Amino acid sequence: MSDITLQGAKKLNITLPPETEAAFEAYYDLLSTHGENVNLTAISGAESVAHLHFLDSIALLTIADFKTAKVIDIGSGAGFPGVPLKLAEPSVDLTLLDATRKRIDFLEHLCALINIDAACIHARAEEAAHTADMREQYDICVSRAVAKLNSLCELCLPFVKPQGLFIAMKSVNSEDELRAAHRAIEALGAQLHKCVDYTIPDTDIVHRAVIIKKTSKTSERYPRRFARIQKSPL
Ligand code: SAM
Repeated sequence: MSDITLQGAKKLNITLPPETEAAFEAYYDLLSTHGENVNLTAISGAESVAHLHFLDSIALLTIADFKTAKVIDIGSGAGFPGVPLKLAEPSVDLTLLDATRKRIDFLEHLCALINIDAACIHARAEEAAHTADMREQYDICVSRAVAKLNSLCELCLPFVKPQGLFIAMKSVNSEDELRAAHRAIEALGAQLHKCVDYTIPDTDIVHRAVIIKKTSKTSERYPRRFARIQKSPL
């Protein structure tokens, strides 16, 4: 599995630090033994995990500059994309946030096992975003498979510093979602920067990174309570 990841990384022009091979292997083993028990991921098998989790996550390094960036992964689940990003770019200052206790327990266990330093926070994004030590504190916010883009922007953009980036990992069929999120992006003090479609190495799978740039502070009104966000998205 780690060989598929290493070779794939090379094709993305990413040189993985030598110690990451063992870390990806241990990550895979933990996902295989614990992932299913706690509903962490539906993806299994060495090849699928390498392609759809590890390489999909680190592909973001080809899209933005993560060196020494303060990064938060919202709704990280079993650690995607945040943990592979940190393994591939150790200078990232990483925070993993998830609303589910058992997923945070998994992430704490994982980080200790593979020896990475990351803050693992058990909280709902819409609540954590109103705390002074997290609001507008991050250079980059990343998120995959958490919510539709209009709601996701409200959950994520308040964490981003003005001039920072929010990168939403989406499918290439996200045109409608993107159209529906334009108003939200603007209301939250941001602008759509660009969409980058990337191919996962050795597959014909193409995914999309939607890159949104924060241009000014987000109004204290946002994020609203989750029920409100869902009932009337911006
Ligand atoms: N990002 C991971 C991935 O791509 O494999 C996990 C995706 S999983 C489908 C969605 C995760 O988002 C779950 O772990 C869930 O607990 C978390 N989540 C959903 N809404 C959230 C919220 N409002 N605040 C924090 N976490 C949330």
